[in-house]
Amino acid sequence: MTYLDHAATTSLRPEAAAAMMAALEHTGNPSSLHKAGRQSRRTVEMAREQIAVALKARPSEVLFTSGGTESDNQAIKGLHWERQAADPNRRLIISSEAEHHAVLDPIEWLVGSGQAEVYWLKLNRDGVVDLNDLATVLAERAREVSLISVMWANNETGVIQPISEIVKLAQPHKIPVHSDAVQAASCLEIDFAATGLAALSISGHKIGAPVGVGALLLQRAYKPVPVMHGGGQERNIRSGTIPAGLIAAFGAALQSTIADRDERNAENKKLRDVLVNQVQALIPGTVVTAANAERMPSVAHFTFEGCEGHTLLMLLDAAGVYCSSGSACTAGVHRPSHVLGAMGYSEAEALGALRVSFGRGSTTADVENLLAALPDAVEKARATAALSRVHRQA
Ligand code: PLP
Repeated sequence: MTYLDHAATTSLRPEAAAAMMAALEHTGNPSSLHKAGRQSRRTVEMAREQIAVALKARPSEVLFTSGGTESDNQAIKGLHWERQAADPNRRLIISSEAEHHAVLDPIEWLVGSGQAEVYWLKLNRDGVVDLNDLATVLAERAREVSLISVMWANNETGVIQPISEIVKLAQPHKIPVHSDAVQAASCLEIDFAATGLAALSISGHKIGAPVGVGALLLQRAYKPVPVMHGGGQERNIRSGTIPAGLIAAFGAALQSTIADRDERNAENKKLRDVLVNQVQALIPGTVVTAANAERMPSVAHFTFEGCEGHTLLMLLDAAGVYCSSGSACTAGVHRPSHVLGAMGYSEAEALGALRVSFGRGSTTADVENLLAALPDAVEKARATAALSRVHRQA
């Protein structure tokens, strides 16, 4: 099996599995006051400390959640409601159309239910947010803005956004900035304090912890309205019994992610560069996405002219090679990527997308296996697409 879909989810780190098993062998609710509870609490607080150290935040700024989607929802809805309560004129959320659905959909839900307006920042063809556009909208409408949310690194293309510059533009207006760093956390250095971000989302299963745990880093000055109400855990923002086992795994996974990050990045970059050069040489009509932008070393993204990505994925799957088109496939319906759409790609161009994502344990053999299968798969997928065009015209 050739697994090249680490951006979707990556394998469990042994350190995470060991930390989780040790914590799960112990019974005790971290909120209970007795000794068993206090022991679970210690496990949770140790992991909070590990995460704070890894991301240069204070432990009290780390709130545990169930994952990236929840962290994004809590940050966006919660901060918007907090700012609205203080000043009802602050209805405007600034974001970009290349965000993950975990950011887009809460914003669209707020807009659709009449609670907010949105301004989508312009992106260039490489998918990088236009800072002049942000400066202009802030000059005209800063007093109406509740928050800005821009992802650190894109899950489809790997493109890195200028987060520090975005915060610098927002700071004179005291506008909180949230960043979805779910993808970035696996390979980029994150210094929460230095960025000046108000909030940042991360997720366990993208860094070698199990699915079902994540965190929202949140500056102490903010008191977002909770999305969930209940027992008042996690600064009264995220109610629900704290899962000590998952959190222990998360802390251990992040610590070991940081420890092998530089070496892994160097290896993944080598693999990525070989792949990109070879694919361009072997397959005419290849376009390397965001070739001029700063990108994560773990992602290679292509579009192949005249090809349909989902056919390509199925052909690769049959050859034992697992990649992604990058975009969501809901109920079997393949849609062109909204990220590529936001970058100015036509629907036809966007449909021919392929994302290859590397991670811990990726090897030269993985690249060779993909290269052995890809040219033939693209040719067949192109033939299938051409045939269905003929059928549509008939
Ligand atoms: N944000 C980004 C950029 C992602 O890539 C993902 C997962 O694909 C999410 C958010 C959602 O995270 P989770 O799967 O932990 O809910």
